[in-house]
This record gives sequence, C-alpha cells and structure tokens, in this order.
Amino acid sequence: MDMDYEDRITAPEYTAADAENELSLRPHRFDDYIGQEKVKKNLSIYIEAALKRNEPLDHVLLYGPPGLGKTTLAGIVANEMGVNFRVTSGPAIEKPGDLAALLTNLSEGDVLFIDEIHRLSRSVEEVLYPAMEDNALDIIIGKGPSARSIRLDLPHFTLIGATTRAGQLSAPLRDRFGVIFRLEMYTPEELSKIVCRSAGILGIDLDYDGAMEIASRSRGTPRIANRLLRRARDFAQVVGEGVIDLKSAQTALDGMEIDELGLDLTDRKLLTTMINHYNGGPVGLETISAAIGEEAVTIEDVYEPYLMQIGFLGRTPRGRVVTPAAYAHLGMAMPSGNSSQTNPEQQKFDM
Ligand code: ADP
Repeated sequence: MDMDYEDRITAPEYTAADAENELSLRPHRFDDYIGQEKVKKNLSIYIEAALKRNEPLDHVLLYGPPGLGKTTLAGIVANEMGVNFRVTSGPAIEKPGDLAALLTNLSEGDVLFIDEIHRLSRSVEEVLYPAMEDNALDIIIGKGPSARSIRLDLPHFTLIGATTRAGQLSAPLRDRFGVIFRLEMYTPEELSKIVCRSAGILGIDLDYDGAMEIASRSRGTPRIANRLLRRARDFAQVVGEGVIDLKSAQTALDGMEIDELGLDLTDRKLLTTMINHYNGGPVGLETISAAIGEEAVTIEDVYEPYLMQIGFLGRTPRGRVVTPAAYAHLGMAMPSGNSSQTNPEQQKFDM
C-alpha cells in the first residue's frame, strides 16, 4: 500500500496538523532557537550592528530542506530587531501588483518574509529589484507611446527569502541578498533538546532516553521531531503509563514503521526499488520518480537530502547510486561484481 505524501508522518513539509503545534512551539528568541550556531552567531552580530546604526538589516537569504527552521529564524530576526514580521510566499504573489501592494503596506524597518522565493515569477521579481536596492517602486502609467514610469519611495525594509533550492534562484535576485545562509540538518543531541523544550511547553512527560530515541529517528529535522513527539504521546497515553521513555518511544515509532534511522516506508521503497530493479544504480531521477510514483521534485527536496546526509544515496553524473551502507542497513546483499565496494560490517552508518 502506498502512503500518500500528504499523510507521511516523516514528511518535513508543513501540514494543517502542525499548525496548532507550531504556534506554541516556535521559538521567538535566539536563546530558544537550538543549533545552527554559526548562523545564529553571525546574524546576531549583524542585527546588533544594524540596531547601533539605526538601520534595517541587510536582505537575507536562507536555504535548506523544509522544516529546518527558516521561517522561525526569520521571525526571530524581526523580533530581535523590534519590527513587524510580514509573511508571504512565492506562489502567493501572482502579479506584480500583489507585490506592490505588500511593499507599500510595510512600515519602516519591517521584515518581509517570502517563503519559496524561487517560485516568484519573472515579472514579480522585476518589481522586487528596485525595491531591494533603492527602496523604490517603479510604476508604469498609461499605455503605448504615452506610457511613462514614475518612481515611488518605499519604507526601508529587510527582505528575508527562504528556499529549498538556492540553485533555482535567478542570479540577479541572488545577487541582491547581502547575506546568504545555508541551514544544516540537526544532530540527534540538538533534536533531543528541541523535543525536551517542546515537551515542557506541551506538558508531556518525557525522559532523556525517550527524547534521544525520538531525536535519532527525526531525519535531522525539528518539524518531524515535534510531530513524532506528539504521536509518541498518543501511544504513551493509550498503551503505556503516559510517560514517554525509551520503551514507549520505541513502541510508538515502530508502530509508525519508522526505523531506527528515521527511514519510513517510502524511503525504504525508494532504496529497495533501486536495488531490486536497477542493481543499485546509477539511476536517473526521472526513472526513480516513475518507478516509485513520487514526483521528481519531491524526491529531490524531501527524500534525497536526508538519504544523502546519512550516506545512503550518492549522486554521480550518470544518476543516483545506493551505497553499501544502505545495503547493510536494509540487510540486503550487494550485487556480485560490486563486492569490491566493501564488506557491510565496515559500512555501518555512524551518526
Ligand atoms: P522551515 O521554514 O524551514 O520549513 P520552520 O521554521 O517552519 O521550518 O520550522 C518548523 C518547526 O520546527 C517550527 O515551528 C519550530 O517549532 C521547530 N523548529 C525549527 N527550528 C528550530 C530550532 N532551531 N529550535 C527549536 N525549534 C525549532
């Protein structure tokens, strides 16, 4: 049975069920934002300097897989600067006029956050360039030979763009960001701190081993860690004593068919399909997509980053390959002829 992407508990993308959770769990200050130390350190220096000069912060681009805390970080920046936080997304801004309306409604110093900024249309991007560079809006009045352009002043603002794929941003747009940060996947230790903080806010009884167990199966992603915490609470309340400890966390996660590295049915299907039908690769992205019935962009944005991070999938110019570590994890034999790729015992993934 195929699991719908929308229903996938380990999907790092935002779902309606996350809404209630994220409102209360989203950190509002750097102190509560766990991990991403380098980004935090640099951003706080830039913020302090901007505040001293009484100027808005330079435009910031954040990139990395979904659920790693880009929106959260942008909100923290607005908070620390003491300004309003306006949120929109690339697909929501359909026409240049939509963006013009957003920009003219900003107050001095505001942070405008555009999620999925790589999905802005060309004509909308063109409105953004003078806004980012000169705080100006160029408006064309009239049509044909009598058309003329007038320039309106905009309030000073900071644009924070977020994207899962920095490579798809047009060069002129990318060049207009003064600061570009890549968010990294979180370590199990960092994720366990995040779930402990969340458990405290939600009043969930969670011990250290239970937190580590959830953390190590959360694919390096805070959004998934918080979601697994909520599900583990359900299990603990119904089948346990209400406390999430090692045993009840394991029961809950096994029940969701999430293995000890955080792989779910779809990840395993992706790897086993490549192994069983394509000898472990190289296989092209489109072929994998057709074989497992998932969109190529979803595979690229959602599944691959983690599988590559843990060293289960590699990219070669001829396509994707399954690594010996993945064979070992799945308990599958390497095809003969590939045996030089090592003995599975030495390939145990070390997180
Ligand atoms: P993105 O915008 O990258 O998709 P979000 O900022 O929406 O991710 O983060 C998803 C959720 O994960 C947030 O609501 C927050 O509760 C949690 N989260 C993300 N990053 C952190 C962090 N560094 N520390 C604590 N919680 C975090």
